[in-house]
Amino acid sequence: MANHYNYIDGSWVPSDSGELFENRNPADQSDLIGLFQQSTSSDADRAIEAARRAYLRWRLVPAPRRAEILFRAAQLIANRKEELARDMTREMGKVLDETRGDVQEAIDMTFFMAGEGRRQYGQTVPSELRDKFAMSVRQPLGVAAIITPWNFPMAIPSWKIIPALVCGNTVVFKPATLTPLSAVSFVKVLEEAGIPKGVVNLVTGGGEQVGAALTVAEEVRVVSFTGSTAVGRTVSERTAPSFKKTHLEMGGKNVILIMDDANLELAVEGCLWGGFGTSGQRCTAASRVVVHEKVYRAFLDQFVERARALRVGNGLDPSTQMGPSVSRGQLETVTRYVEIGRKEGARLACGGGVLAGGVHAKGFFHEPTIFADVAPGMRIAQEEIFGPVVSVIPCRSFEEAVEIGNGVQYGLSASIYTQDVNRAFAAMRDLYTGIFYVNAPTIGAEVHLPFGGTKATGNGHREAGTAALDVFSEWKSVYVDFSGRLQRAQIDPTEL
Ligand code: NAD
Repeated sequence: MANHYNYIDGSWVPSDSGELFENRNPADQSDLIGLFQQSTSSDADRAIEAARRAYLRWRLVPAPRRAEILFRAAQLIANRKEELARDMTREMGKVLDETRGDVQEAIDMTFFMAGEGRRQYGQTVPSELRDKFAMSVRQPLGVAAIITPWNFPMAIPSWKIIPALVCGNTVVFKPATLTPLSAVSFVKVLEEAGIPKGVVNLVTGGGEQVGAALTVAEEVRVVSFTGSTAVGRTVSERTAPSFKKTHLEMGGKNVILIMDDANLELAVEGCLWGGFGTSGQRCTAASRVVVHEKVYRAFLDQFVERARALRVGNGLDPSTQMGPSVSRGQLETVTRYVEIGRKEGARLACGGGVLAGGVHAKGFFHEPTIFADVAPGMRIAQEEIFGPVVSVIPCRSFEEAVEIGNGVQYGLSASIYTQDVNRAFAAMRDLYTGIFYVNAPTIGAEVHLPFGGTKATGNGHREAGTAALDVFSEWKSVYVDFSGRLQRAQIDPTEL
């Protein structure tokens, strides 16, 4: 068991605080993964200063050369995929197939974004004047602060750090305190790939100590945050006075609509993995299922039967289908909402309890839980629980289903199961979310398309795809007059 350090200005260093925090396996609390730096705002400030100085050189490195380092990093992650996935399962609990998927997303994103080293297209347009060039180019912003959650410990940092770097920014990375090992491993890969000192800095520790310092520092010019809506709001308020560009990806209450013509077998499968994958701890988790009354009973019976049969346990065991909640606090949130659902009058169709004996004795396990006959306004159908709890809501028509789907404060991901192409397209148009699926669950993004949400989920930016470049660069419009004379903006007709 090792002590892990911050990475500042190219060196692995202890925090000024001299304090450490423990990282333990949520499936087995006796498994201590490591000790990490409990950093303070002064560590964050040193990292920002290192990044500020490194920016002076990194911004001038040609983008294709920056990309060469990133291509090497992608290959190193690929070489270590299995080891990184196992570490991640130990660290935050999701099953191995899911952590392999998480690492694979980091590989895909790093290869994809490294490719942007030779693109980052701007525009060239005809000028209004003779002998004049008009174009727009991307320019980096400076120091980027990257603040990430624990549920995708390698994928989400890669979605932010790699585009930041390929655009020419330098980085201070503050990962979630529940997943510092994956963050350390990711930064070690970048170091080994040849990232120059100061270009990427890692500071572990609490949100109010490290994260808050990053949001207020003048030298930080862009903040990319993924986490809860409550913290995102605080981040937004703190970055506003210094006019930082602020990219927020926040909570969700995603919905699957099941119409009366749906392939029910497929829909049940989608709801199972959409609702209980990663123990319901995905921002895109399908925590609401709206079902047409004609197929409501048939769907619910099959869904409950499949949920009851899910094998819950340690994610390192290949037979496990659902892992633990990430922490005691998260498990307590789940049990609190189960109680709220009961009191609101929803019908508990399966689950509802903590799993505490045998293989579950040392971890934070909860049964896959389904509430039936849920009214759309109930708190369990409105608030993000972030656990294995799905609300099933009956509806009478397509129009009502869409209204229920839109009737929450969030807008990340939605899906419809139907055989009717007209309904599928109408739902795609009318559900106000950033991501939409037809005959597939609300989860599973591909790195080359934009990712993000509307309303209280996001503030209008997107990550992934080339949209990520818009977060980490700004446009500069450039006019080059090579006529050698003063030209007027309005063209003199006699010159045509
Ligand atoms: P969180 O909001 O508690 O923490 C996110 C990060 O912010 C952590 O690194 C945390 O230490 C830091 N932080 C906390 N207080 C801070 C402050 N005052 N200033 C700056 N940083 C601070 O979220 P979490 O529990 O780690 O993650 C779960 C949440 O993330 C869920 O709401 C989930 O929906 C959301 N999420 C959203 C997406 C998306 O793309 N929309 C993706 C994954 C997770």
